[in-house]
Amino acid sequence: MTKVNEGKTIMKLTFLGTGAADWNGPDARGEYRRFTSTLLDGALLIDVTRTVLDEIPDPAAVTDVFFTHSHRDHFDIEALRALAPCRVFAHESWADTISGAGLTVMPLTVGRPVETTGFTVTPMPSNHSTERPQETTLHYLFEKDGKHLLYATDGAWLRNEEHRIIGQTPLDGIVFDATIGDGFDGDWRIFEHNSIDMIRLMLRTLLKTGRLRDGAPVFLTHLARTLHAPHPQLERQTEPPFVVCFDGMERVI
Ligand SMILES: [Zn+2]
Ligand SMILES: [Zn+2]
Repeated sequence: MTKVNEGKTIMKLTFLGTGAADWNGPDARGEYRRFTSTLLDGALLIDVTRTVLDEIPDPAAVTDVFFTHSHRDHFDIEALRALAPCRVFAHESWADTISGAGLTVMPLTVGRPVETTGFTVTPMPSNHSTERPQETTLHYLFEKDGKHLLYATDGAWLRNEEHRIIGQTPLDGIVFDATIGDGFDGDWRIFEHNSIDMIRLMLRTLLKTGRLRDGAPVFLTHLARTLHAPHPQLERQTEPPFVVCFDGMERVI
């Protein structure tokens, strides 16, 4: 599915759902965000719940599903089974709990890359936790045809181990958990999710140390229903390189 555009290889991101766990249908403003789930090049899906099944352009084209963690707004076994046959990737601490007809489960180890559908995918530990005390939650580094994407939901502030794995390869884009919006300081979730201000601080260092290519987009997703302005206002008040995601948005890097 990778296309060549004016001689350059591109990676296509489809943001199927862009909300945090507190969304449950359209809110009083008429806005709706499904649970966070992102499709790469039409074939590689990151997290899946029933809320996004109807948003997948071609479900039969999905060959691989990577899970960041087992929270209910990212992992839904019935939604996953609806996509079979496919390969399923999850951290080894809980991968053995996933089963279903046509699902080939591949346990992941932090720092050990896997190759699939043209992507090299490196699992990295995230600053997040679930009700399963043994679970290691994950972020991912996706590499395809020389393009590098950091996928960082859920989680607060990047961990040092993750920062080291990213290394000196400049990223061409980042998808960040931006659960907490501007003007909502004091929220308890900062210890497991980012505010936009936290991302601003990390970006300065990622840019200064050459880990993020100049002009590379930074996609904000996993937006909490109660911690953000309405989407049009949010877009107006959020400066580049931030891109405020909405459900169904497609972008290339
Ligand atoms: Zn979440
Ligand atoms: Zn979570």
